[in-house]
Amino acid sequence: MPLPALPTRFDGDSAPLGVDLHMHSTASDGALPPAEVVALCAARGVWLMALTDHDTVAGVAEAGEAATRLGVHLLPAVELSTRWHGIGIHVVGLLPQGARGALAEGLDDQARAREARAEVIAKRMEKIGLDDALARAREQAGPHRPLGRPDFARALVAAGLVPDMATAFRKHLGSGKAGDVKAHWPALAEVVGWVVEAGGVAVLAHPLRYGLTRRKRGQLLDDFVAAGGQAAELVSGFQNADVTRDLARQLAERELYASLGSDFHFPGGHLAPGSMSPVPRTAVSPVWMHPRLAGVVATGCDAAAPGAL
Ligand code: AMP
Ligand code: MN
Ligand code: MN
Ligand code: MN
Repeated sequence: MPLPALPTRFDGDSAPLGVDLHMHSTASDGALPPAEVVALCAARGVWLMALTDHDTVAGVAEAGEAATRLGVHLLPAVELSTRWHGIGIHVVGLLPQGARGALAEGLDDQARAREARAEVIAKRMEKIGLDDALARAREQAGPHRPLGRPDFARALVAAGLVPDMATAFRKHLGSGKAGDVKAHWPALAEVVGWVVEAGGVAVLAHPLRYGLTRRKRGQLLDDFVAAGGQAAELVSGFQNADVTRDLARQLAERELYASLGSDFHFPGGHLAPGSMSPVPRTAVSPVWMHPRLAGVVATGCDAAAPGAL
């Protein structure tokens, strides 16, 4: 069955696009195995998807098989942890040619960095009363996936030290707290370089979720562009429409392409694959119009979009 064509621009039509370029599986901190994320996409009408696990492409092969079976188009991808002026910044790499060259080596480094970082986080969690923190986080994560802050958050909840995940992050693991260890991550510019060199499109993930002022966000976007970054997530899950329009202006000024995704992690929450705020009418081009993704998916359903006439 041929896949639908995508609009060549955002004309303010609020109908869902069937696109989600930011989701997680059990290969990182998501709850569903890769094939089940794909199945959920298919069931929800999401026909163009990217699996963006933290610092790994380990789930992409399984997702790819499921996608072929279910008639979903999967873009190989990853969400990379980076550091910028002491802030943890995430970069999504959309990788039509997969993870290769410096990026493949970079992913090996990221896995080692995540291990070393987990040891530091564990020591800090022990100071606040979580004995054997590393073993307890591993128990939460299961034997396979690299440890992340959510595993420590779950361990804190399981030990009765905090009532829930939200409190675990607010008090101990969120931005600026003891468990927010960023020193192991490479600089933003380096990571962007890996993605670009691999033939991919570097996308600044959820620019509104770093607690930055508009001015600081502009500096982040400037540095991201200077490093070779090509796109940013204009819509990440649900966000205020005025804020989205303002972010669109910041992207337009820098000729960045716009990506969009739910940042789905687990079912039963307020987010699901494909669930996100509508994209307003904007001059910013959809990321699938980037030359590196052209040909990956069909475009040009302007005739079907009433606003385009
Ligand atoms: P890490 O990759 O180890 O830095 O962990 C970051 C992950 O923690 C994010 O990708 C989210 O999945 C999760 N996270 C961050 N903040 C919160 C929060 N306040 N509540 C629940 N999960 C969170
Ligand atoms: Mn996550
Ligand atoms: Mn992220
Ligand atoms: Mn994410």
